[in-house]
Amino acid sequence: MPGRAPLTQVRATASLLNFRGTAWMPEPCQSCNRREIDWGGCRCQAFALTGDAAATDPACVLSPDHAIMAAAVAAAAADPAPLVYRRIGAAVPVG
Ligand code: SF4
Repeated sequence: MPGRAPLTQVRATASLLNFRGTAWMPEPCQSCNRREIDWGGCRCQAFALTGDAAATDPACVLSPDHAIMAAAVAAAAADPAPLVYRRIGAAVPVG
């Protein structure tokens, strides 16, 4: 079936495996004493906000990209969107 691969193949080739351990980490994570506690933060969040999955998570105050997260938080606070639960097939507004 096109677009499908055995899980063992996916695991062997997935680029996310590049993020195991600490060797991949940039500064400031590389020299941070929390690097083996939070593992540099969220890779998905780093990619979504910076375009670089190997960047320090912008949620971290030590990240050189933290201003992106701070701006997003400020924008959300200034214009809060209604909370909507995600469901397959239908979004249900809360309240
Ligand atoms: S994300 Fe922040 S706290 Fe975590 S390892 Fe990197 S610099 Fe340290």
